[in-house]
Amino acid sequence: MTLTVAHRGSLFHLLADPRFKEDCVEFIEDGLLTVSEGVIESMGPADQLLHQLPAGTKVIQHNDAVLVPGFFDLHVHSPQLTTVAIYGEQLLGWLNTIIPEEEAYKDPEIASKRADIFIKEALRNGTTTMAVYGSWAKESVDALFKKADSLNMRFVAGKVMADRNMPAGISLTSPEQDYEDCSSLIDAWHGKGRLSYAVTPRFAISCTREDMNVASRLMGEHDDIYFQTHLSENPKEIEFTLELFPECKSYLDVYDSFGLLGRRSIFGHCIHLEDEDFKRVEETGSVLCPNPPSNFFLGSGLFKFENAKNHNVHVALGTDFGAGNTLSMLSSMENAYKMAQLQGYSLSPWEAFYYATLGGAKALSVDDRVGNFLPGKEADFVVLDKKATPLIEWRMEHARTPADVMFVLMMLGDDRMVRSTYLAGNAVHHRDE
Ligand SMILES: [Zn+2]
Repeated sequence: MTLTVAHRGSLFHLLADPRFKEDCVEFIEDGLLTVSEGVIESMGPADQLLHQLPAGTKVIQHNDAVLVPGFFDLHVHSPQLTTVAIYGEQLLGWLNTIIPEEEAYKDPEIASKRADIFIKEALRNGTTTMAVYGSWAKESVDALFKKADSLNMRFVAGKVMADRNMPAGISLTSPEQDYEDCSSLIDAWHGKGRLSYAVTPRFAISCTREDMNVASRLMGEHDDIYFQTHLSENPKEIEFTLELFPECKSYLDVYDSFGLLGRRSIFGHCIHLEDEDFKRVEETGSVLCPNPPSNFFLGSGLFKFENAKNHNVHVALGTDFGAGNTLSMLSSMENAYKMAQLQGYSLSPWEAFYYATLGGAKALSVDDRVGNFLPGKEADFVVLDKKATPLIEWRMEHARTPADVMFVLMMLGDDRMVRSTYLAGNAVHHRDE
């Protein structure tokens, strides 16, 4: 016998990319979301669905709350727990300070303990799907996959590849070792449950041509793995990259020259892209993943949301924790709004929530399974508390439209707003317990 559980509260989700389609938002003030065996059975107004429920169906009341699809954080570093909020540096100096801390993750016990803390913290923030950079040590990624699998979490991760230009105190790998480690992680975890592997060169600066060739080879050997790396974050980083690859016409062109652009490639930051780059990203269907909290923290610059829109480019959002000083995607949305404002572009709440939900799912090509509340999708969702703080409660009493409600959630929300987080219908975080 299958057991249906019904969740009652306000429901919000997107049905398409609001940059290109109007009327793609659904907000139901008193809604019902029914879930059976981890999958959404139905969603709609409570007054229409309640009387159709099988006798004895459990109804969970989420009073004063909005249920939204679980958040996607598509650029985040697990081994930076001990280095978040380090004062005073920009990218290259900051990396020299923080990277040596990742060495500890070769110890499976430390890796396991910290994977637990990292994933728990993400769930507390309402993130249900992540694309994660581990450390160079494959133990770091083993530990993450093990924890994510035990929670049935949708999870993408890879060990960082780096065979040159790393600070003292961190081990360099070799192309041979990177190939061997990545292959063994793919064999062990990729496709298991809701897990996927991502080939993850730290960035072009840290990889020789041989190591980049390993990345291409791995992408060629496996149809459905992902590729993730950093791109055009900081002017000094770009300058150094082009010194190392003088044959390439841009930073993006470095990855392009190794055949690493495409529908399964996610590029973090992408701040200083030129029009030519946007065109190439559009042609290849690659994904751009700005990380506003990090971009402000390191002073790296402003992602050009409007150019991305004009080029019809896939955009998802990340935190880039620990350069981002938060694991909250609400905070990332808030900072994305401010980032766009600085460029005279008003990012609507629909666009912001799209990047953190359905857009993330589209970026990973899993929008047939997650990203909104359509029946048949996996029930990953978050319960956002409209009374999380006295100020939010007061402001919500004066919110007049769904757009106003959602905008207040993203501008005033953080982990305190996340009352519960569900993965495939199972509660994995309750704030008040
Ligand atoms: Zn990063």
